[in-house]
Amino acid sequence: MNKDLESLLSELKVVHEDLRLIPTEMIVVSDWVRLKCRYGCNNYGNHLGCPPFTPTPSETRAVLSAYRNAVLVRFEAKPDPKLSAKHAGRALNNSAAKMQKTVAELERTAFLAGYYKALGMNALPCTLCDTCVIGEIQKKDQAVFDLDSIKCRNKEIMRPSMEACGIDVFKTLQNAGFKPRVLKDSKEMVELFGLILID
Ligand code: SF4
Repeated sequence: MNKDLESLLSELKVVHEDLRLIPTEMIVVSDWVRLKCRYGCNNYGNHLGCPPFTPTPSETRAVLSAYRNAVLVRFEAKPDPKLSAKHAGRALNNSAAKMQKTVAELERTAFLAGYYKALGMNALPCTLCDTCVIGEIQKKDQAVFDLDSIKCRNKEIMRPSMEACGIDVFKTLQNAGFKPRVLKDSKEMVELFGLILID
């Protein structure tokens, strides 16, 4: 690793300790990923950080080709065994909001360190507002456009989730040496991952 990247990693670890530098060639983009959003996820079309408002897999591939290095950022959301599945979901939303803010801070730190291309990505649907602004647009029966993401209330920190852009997060984590697994119960510990594209 070159000295500049080493010193950047040290700076990033002050913000969040649990992160790992990876070459972007480990990041896998697959066309099937967005079908998992479109068929099976209640959040499809309900958050501006989710499809159809996010970059398509083709756009994501093109964007990734402009980067050599990225940082995977790991977060743990520990379950409270006393919570029902519904309340556990709310607790996970709180963890996701904290992750989003940390990813934004990491992106900013990298940018200020001279990595001007730094760009963050998250996991899960955006949880920064109780109700996404897209809901208000839909309630008024206004037409919804892909570029409605520009109407986000928190544009300075909202970033799309990796899966929303077609990234096969599971395979990418395996390539990077993590051991992701399918969770079968809301009482299991959840690992969340963010990504910062660096240079
Ligand atoms: S920050 Fe608010 S308006 Fe923007 S995508 Fe997230 S929930 Fe929607």
